[in-house]
Parts: sequence; C-alpha cells; structure tokens
Amino acid sequence: MSDEHRPHNCACSCGSVRLRVTRPPMLRFMCHCTICQTVYGNPYADVTVVRASGVEIEDENLVAFGRHKAPPALDRGLCKSCRQPVAGFLAVAPGFRLAFVPKHMYPAESQILPSTMHIFYGSRTADVDDALPKHNGFWSSQWGTISALIPKLMAR
Ligand SMILES: [Zn+2]
Ligand SMILES: [Zn+2]
Repeated sequence: MSDEHRPHNCACSCGSVRLRVTRPPMLRFMCHCTICQTVYGNPYADVTVVRASGVEIEDENLVAFGRHKAPPALDRGLCKSCRQPVAGFLAVAPGFRLAFVPKHMYPAESQILPSTMHIFYGSRTADVDDALPKHNGFWSSQWGTISALIPKLMAR
C-alpha cells in the first residue's frame, strides 16, 4: 500500500453492505457486457479493479454471491437488501484474486482514478461519445484490461 493512499470507506445505496478499499485501485473501466447491463440495471457498469487483498467486506453475510454464465467466471456479490452490486471477485492465478468494486460504492468525495476504456462495447445498448478506447469483443476486452493491469501488477 502506498503511503499516500487512504482507505476508501465504501457502501451500497441502502448502506447495509460496507467495505473498505485499502489498496489503490489499479484500473477503472466501463463494461457493456449483457450481464453487467442486467446486474447493474444500466447500459454499462463503471468499475474499479483492486487486488482482492485490498478489499475488506465488513459482513459477508449481507452479500449474495453468485456466478453468472458467460466467461470470465466472476463471482459477483450483490447487497441482499438493495440488490446493488457491491464487489466481484475473480481468481486469476492460484492464490491471487482481483476484486471489482463498482464506482457507485465509493463515497462521492473519493478521489479515484478516471475510467480509461470501454469493454464489451460490441454489446452496448447506447453509444458513448468520448475519446476512450472501445473494445468490442471478448478477446479484445480481455486483452485491453490485462495489458493495462500488467504494468500495475509488476510495479509491486
Ligand atoms: Zn460486464
Ligand atoms: Zn444495499
């Protein structure tokens, strides 16, 4: 954890699920996949990627975890009360997991990094008019996120 990073105290909209992000998010992107559209009830999900060791859920009993069909097999956690996505976890290697924490979980005053790309843009329900890279398909989306993460993961 870098010295200047202060933990973010995150919560879902109903306030029942609280979690702390104790490591700096490494990446933030917008995902237009059909699962995110359903789970988020939005045209896309705006999410940050953090090492799973840097995410502490106060009470996991308040979170409903479940895997949805399409790859990657992301274990998605929803608040049992408001059904808002609170965090997803993905095993990328034995003993190493990434956490996906939605932007809406962070307090409004949190200074978090800007979004840098759109993924699964091919299944978008609405065009987004910005200058960010747009990855359409599965492999392009995977590669876009992995290639952005590798330097961050190598850094420490
Ligand atoms: Zn998605
Ligand atoms: Zn909630």
